[in-house]
This record gives sequence, C-alpha cells and structure tokens, in this order.
Amino acid sequence: MTPATAADHFSQTYAQARQRFLDAAAAAGLEVASHAHPLKGHEGEDLALDVARDGPADAEAVLIISSACHGVEGYCGSGVQVALLHDADWRTQVRASGVAVLYLHGLNPHGFSWWRRTTHENVDLNRNFVDFSKPLPATPAYDELARAIVPDEWPAPAAAQQQLAAYAVQHGERGLRGAIGNGQHSHPNGLFFAGTAPTWSRLRLREVLREHARACKRLAWIDVHTGLGPSGHGEPIYTGRPSKTAVERARHWWGPEVTSTLDGSSVSTDVQGTVPQAAHDECPQAEFTGMALEYGTLPPDQVIDALRADQWMQNHPDRVDAETRQRIRQRVRDVFYVDTDEWKTAVVAQGQLRASQALAGLSSPP
Ligand SMILES: [Zn+2]
Repeated sequence: MTPATAADHFSQTYAQARQRFLDAAAAAGLEVASHAHPLKGHEGEDLALDVARDGPADAEAVLIISSACHGVEGYCGSGVQVALLHDADWRTQVRASGVAVLYLHGLNPHGFSWWRRTTHENVDLNRNFVDFSKPLPATPAYDELARAIVPDEWPAPAAAQQQLAAYAVQHGERGLRGAIGNGQHSHPNGLFFAGTAPTWSRLRLREVLREHARACKRLAWIDVHTGLGPSGHGEPIYTGRPSKTAVERARHWWGPEVTSTLDGSSVSTDVQGTVPQAAHDECPQAEFTGMALEYGTLPPDQVIDALRADQWMQNHPDRVDAETRQRIRQRVRDVFYVDTDEWKTAVVAQGQLRASQALAGLSSPP
C-alpha cells in the first residue's frame, strides 16, 4: 500500500529506512543489488550499500540520487528516495525520458546506523576522494586548532572556546568554518578527517559507477545532505570540477539559485575530495552535472558542537556513561534530521522538484 503522506517515507532507524527502500523498490518492480558492509549496525543489523536502477541498461543518460554520504544525514536522503520510488508521476516521467535513475541507498551505511557523520574509519566520505598516490595537503589552520576543536574534556574548557573565538575574530566566521571543516589528513581522531586511504564506501561506490555509468553520455548526480542553511531549505550546491560551463549547465537546469563554492556563493566552504570526483575518475566519457542538495536543520554552531561532543566521546569511551552516550548520540541525529512532518514535507517537495529538473536537463541535451 502506498504511504499516505510525505513524512511516512522517513524512518527512525537504519534498519527501518533500509526496509522502506527495499519495499519501495520491490513495489516499483526494481531489483536491488546489495553491497554488504563488513560490520554490523547499532542494533546488530546487517549494513549495506543498496543499489536500484530504474531504466534501461544502455541508457544514454543516467541520474544518480544518493543518500547517507554523511551517515546520519541519510534519514533525510532515504526519505527522498523512498518518496520518489512511490511517486507514480515521477516514475512515469522517468520511463518517458529514457533516462536511467540510479538510487544509491546508504553510501555510508555504518554512520547511518550508528548516528555518526563519518564512516567506520572515522572518515568524512565527502573529503575522501583525493588522489592518495600524491602527497596529501597540509592543513596548518586545522593543526593549530585541533586540540580546541576536539578537546580532551567535554563540555569544552573555556580556553578551547576562547581559542576558536579568537580565530573567528581574526579570520571571520567563514574562515573558522573552513579551518574546521575543509578536511584534514593528519588527525584521525579529529573532525572532518579525510583519511589516508580509500574507505570501504569509496571503493564500493566506484564499483557501482563502473557497473552502471561507464557507457552513458550524460551523467547527473543529486547527493542529498543535511546540516547547512536555513531549516527545511534545500540549497542546490554545484559539485564537480571547477568548470564554468558545468556550473552554467547546472544553473540552466536547476535555476540561478544553484550556488557554488568556486565563487563563494554557497553556504558551504571549498572542500576537496568530494564524492563526485568518483564520477570524473570512473566515467570520463560522460558530461557530468552534479549537485549536493543540502537541507538546513539547526544553526551551524549547534551542528559543530554536536560533532565535537561526538568525537570527544569516540576518543574517550571509558569516560562516558550510558545516559551521556545516548544524549550525545541523539544530539547528533537531531542536528542532521529535523524529525517533524513540516520539515519532511518540505524536503520531499524540493527533492521531487530537483529530480524532475535533472531529468529534463538530461533528456534535452544542447
Ligand atoms: Zn553532508
């Protein structure tokens, strides 16, 4: 039976979200290929990257819609994917277009289940797609602030807060956000750790792209995120190589509201090693148009503080009692998932719009 409202497509646990996705794919008559994760979830459940393809194997154009690049953000993206699979109008549009839609459910299923942003390697997957055969970039700003960002004590000591505040006075709030969040390779127990090797999720994702997107001529990607911007507003952030033509194409499809970290118009800072790099590496034959659909939740300070507390807890599990653990976990989920019908309804409406626009863009090449 088709769920009645947009909010019904969203879940409270990874296992529930996964089941909803599998059920929705089955109801749509789609097969799902599951790439099993080596570890178990928070409730002991199996974890996987689940892949469903809606469209011909030899489609000239492919649209990827993915969830949970940042684990816990998957509660949002999964809801969008399940809503689309249940949306008869959308599926009719897809069939008429000849475009193949590739749903990637749970890019980082471990973080999805454990209510963490990172992978089980403690890596930010959206910073992990760098060339590890080359020297990794230094991050002096993060290094300087590392012990203030994730202090040894939590709540953070006054000295740590003062150091961050002083940095913001000197470099601006945006400068501070960049120093913390642009990604770093030298503090595996810190925030926004980009890793020193490809993660499980990166390897699986590249396999999926090899299987599904090696032959297409045009490839688009909507990667659903949360945690930046005004609550319930989905900012379309251009993702892909620094290319004026590609940014213009993204704005032609999705409107002038497409922002870009390349020209400073985005709420996001300029991060390296993002997921769409995989598309450039694996599908060089395709014209690529990508966006991160970034839904706002709570103010940035609250989001960062939830991540700081979570990383402190990971670093000192022996110092955390069960009640504190639950409170910190819940806080992480709350800052990446606004669990109200109003928010979910707004999320689905914008997800449907952005997907339809991508379909139109892909089916009418210049
Ligand atoms: Zn994200």
